[in-house]
Amino acid sequence: QSPSIIFARDLSPSDTAQLPHDKVLGFITLLGSKTSHTAIMARSMDLPAIVGIEEKEGIQIETGMFAILDGNKGILVINPRQETLEEYGAVEERHEQIIQKLDELRHDISVTTDNRRIILSGNIEMTSDIQGVVNSGAEGIGLFRSEFLFANRDDLPGEEEQYAAYSEAARSVKPHNVILRTLDIGGDKLMSRLFETHEQNPFLGVRAIRICLAHPELLRTQLRAMLRACVEGNVRIMYPMISGVEEVRQANKILFEEKDKLKAAGHQIPDNIEIGAMIEIPSAALTADIIAKEVSFFSIGTNDLIQYSIAIDRGNEKLAYLYSPTHPAILRLINGVVQAAHANNIWVGVCGEMASEFVLTPLLLGLGVDELSAGSAQVPRIKRVIRSISYAESKQMVDEILQETSSQLIMDRLTAFSEERFPELFE
Ligand code: PEP
Ligand code: MG
Repeated sequence: QSPSIIFARDLSPSDTAQLPHDKVLGFITLLGSKTSHTAIMARSMDLPAIVGIEEKEGIQIETGMFAILDGNKGILVINPRQETLEEYGAVEERHEQIIQKLDELRHDISVTTDNRRIILSGNIEMTSDIQGVVNSGAEGIGLFRSEFLFANRDDLPGEEEQYAAYSEAARSVKPHNVILRTLDIGGDKLMSRLFETHEQNPFLGVRAIRICLAHPELLRTQLRAMLRACVEGNVRIMYPMISGVEEVRQANKILFEEKDKLKAAGHQIPDNIEIGAMIEIPSAALTADIIAKEVSFFSIGTNDLIQYSIAIDRGNEKLAYLYSPTHPAILRLINGVVQAAHANNIWVGVCGEMASEFVLTPLLLGLGVDELSAGSAQVPRIKRVIRSISYAESKQMVDEILQETSSQLIMDRLTAFSEERFPELFE
């Protein structure tokens, strides 16, 4: 069968992970949205996709039709005319030129024009994504979504298998860091039959750290593999879906116990491993000053922070219009988290999709974020923005933006700023 575009009602993140690269050119689904894990998977696999396409009446899609799939703009052109094909040919050429130009920045560091250093790292789902991060010019991995090791199987990955994956990541990005995130299944990532729970509200259910604390053996095995990988490079460990400080304390207790056991067994585990908490639930954001006392860093998971703050399922295409990273509530929460982190002398990153949108980079810089972890395809654009602006001007803009009253006004302002300063990045 020749390579094709897949059109499906829905694709789960684990189905997406299994799509064969040589047979699938891209995909379109009716359900889901830009921040659903299926869309995130598509981006990290570098597959053009439209997740949650708007249904248009009277349009029939049949097997064998030809189509142009423009994943950047979310446009599907069925049976394109010759002019459209030519137009897209030119778009592709231009796109290639821009990518080549951005590639010149690959070995440059991410620093603003007034010398504020930002760590720009990349997100990965699977070990096959590591090379993409290295090639993108990112400084290490800011989020390793370890749950994909648990996908599409009936058993659990053991300590050795996990150790092999984590140490490969650590070795590949050394001397940069890799941030290993403990298991975050549940929500839309219901990927193992072992954890099927049939909950009414999976996003508000037994997910991530909650599953791990309910099954400590699962967490112990994972933490042992992560701790052993610390010997192979610069590894940091973080916990997802923290709702309050108690969960951090419980997870840390398990981590320290496993570390002591490993050391007693002769493993040379370093003593200065940085342990972090993801801030992606409003209760954690609002108690960031308390949580900061127990960890070395925060990583803000804006995908979930937006979902839980505005009360919208992040994968529901009908609510995509409300899913707004520039909602004043989100900006206030991020602002508070950064201030709490800095007041407690810890650093703070952003690893949600907000970090992958170059239009939002000046906003995050101005809010004082120290690290951004983006999808590897977006890293060069983000680096270009960081290297072109000053911290002082982004801070000034953010001071003004924080007085604005609506998401749309804020987004318009940020878009106008980027259109003026980096018009080529929109092409
Ligand atoms: C987030 O919620 O922003 C995040 C990075 O985690 P995930 O997308 O895996 O839920
Ligand atoms: Mg999350």
